[in-house]
Amino acid sequence: MQTIITMECTECKSRNYTTTKNKSKHNERIEKNKHCRNCRRHTAHKETK
Ligand SMILES: [Zn+2]
Repeated sequence: MQTIITMECTECKSRNYTTTKNKSKHNERIEKNKHCRNCRRHTAHKETK
């Protein structure tokens, strides 16, 4: 089952992306390097609740 999650920039805390993940496969919070428009560079984005 796919769940929609929101990805938040760890530096400016803006929520830039949504993605989906399989909760039964990935219970832990996911973290990805994404381009942040606020920071205007690539930063780590973490899953929010
Ligand atoms: Zn940012």
